Amino acid sequence: LMQLFRPLDMLGWVYRTIRQGLIDMADMFRLMDTSVEVEDAPGAPALVIRRPTVTFDNVSFGYDKDRQILHGLSFEAPAGAHIALVGPSGAGKSTIGRLLFRFYDPWEGRILIDGQDIREVTQESLRRAIGIVPQDSVLFNDTIGYNIEYGAPWGQGDPTPEAVRQAAADAAILPFIESLPNKFDTEVGERGLKLSGGEKQRVAIARTLLKDPPILLLDEATSALDSRTEQDILATLRNISCNRTTIAIAHRLSTIADADLINVMEAGRIVEQGSHNDLLRRDGLYAEMWSRQQNEDSAVPEAAE
Ligand code: ADP
Ligand code: MG
Repeated sequence: LMQLFRPLDMLGWVYRTIRQGLIDMADMFRLMDTSVEVEDAPGAPALVIRRPTVTFDNVSFGYDKDRQILHGLSFEAPAGAHIALVGPSGAGKSTIGRLLFRFYDPWEGRILIDGQDIREVTQESLRRAIGIVPQDSVLFNDTIGYNIEYGAPWGQGDPTPEAVRQAAADAAILPFIESLPNKFDTEVGERGLKLSGGEKQRVAIARTLLKDPPILLLDEATSALDSRTEQDILATLRNISCNRTTIAIAHRLSTIADADLINVMEAGRIVEQGSHNDLLRRDGLYAEMWSRQQNEDSAVPEAAE
């Protein structure tokens, strides 16, 4: 009975975790040390990245056979570019991240990184290449240091204290950590210090930086924050995303208006593609969402964190 129970427990946990958003699945897989749906092809080589271009080529997908979520989706994030995926909730944006991480395989079409089909490389090398900053980062009931070190690449030994400090500095949380009596050894979470939403996101960013991935996936990374904190974190994200291919999923359009390319999604399809100015000129869904959000921003009083 135990044997039957454990996997079911785990699946329930995975399901609940996914429902909460796109959590750092590298963490999850390391905890589980197993994958749910996909397996490495026999003798699969490691992903080799010279230029981290990400290509979705006519990708269709659904979680259940009778409900298709993505319909023949194609887009490209050129190496080093910043692209955005926007659209109403339920459009399938986070699903794209889960497919890129190969949590599931597409029904049809291909996902390529630097020309390599992600189904044909090891999952470990794939997941090492992608850093995810989700909406609500999960922190462990442990020290701040542990929570950052947890992002270190697998099997490469413990990160040096200097590397951890550098990651914290780049995530703009070092001064805060240094101001704590126990510094990196400060306990966080239920057991210790309560971090604000913004501080938690910075710890998550430091964790991702330590992993130093060529591809960054930001899934509503700032959407749970008040707008002042959001602006601060966006500035940090802009700094760390230079020289990395960045895919930003966003609901609030003001956070991605400067992207090189914006893909507007609706019901599992890309319905518009272009720069912010292109899309405003088009006067379609993006322009409508933009003007609605401009009005909301001026009407709604700022939420306190
Ligand atoms: P978005 O991020 O754009 O809000 P998602 O990609 O999270 O949208 O979800 C797209 C659709 O897929 C939604 O209808 C959602 O209910 C469904 N969905 C998401 N995750 C699962 C899952 N694990 N199993 C079944 N359906 C799911
Ligand atoms: Mg989502």
